[in-house]
Amino acid sequence: MENKTNFTSNRFQENCQKILLDHPDAIGVAYKVLDCGCSLLCGVSAQGDPIGILRHLSGQPSKKGKMPPICLKCKIDTGLKRVVWEGIYWPGVENEQPDKSFRLLIGRKVFGPGYFEPD
Ligand SMILES: [Zn+2]
Repeated sequence: MENKTNFTSNRFQENCQKILLDHPDAIGVAYKVLDCGCSLLCGVSAQGDPIGILRHLSGQPSKKGKMPPICLKCKIDTGLKRVVWEGIYWPGVENEQPDKSFRLLIGRKVFGPGYFEPD
């Protein structure tokens, strides 16, 4: 899937790390990847509640040393109806992360009962 490159990108990881640093009670970061390449990020508590504000990460290519431009598509409709992928970013290496049943529990609280994790 083409969008994989987006959500494993450095910028995506940096933003997730920043949210976790800003909100020590966030255990992960919920994200939605949009069809324009942008993503929406929000911290998640151990109870599956949102923490902090919803951040918009532009998928537009950035020019050297400058912030990436605002995505015009998102400016018009905020993108919530154009989600192509959603999930939760868990910090740390695999064996430091919560186990799968807990990750699914939180994921379902955030995204609804249809949430699953790809293997
Ligand atoms: Zn966009």
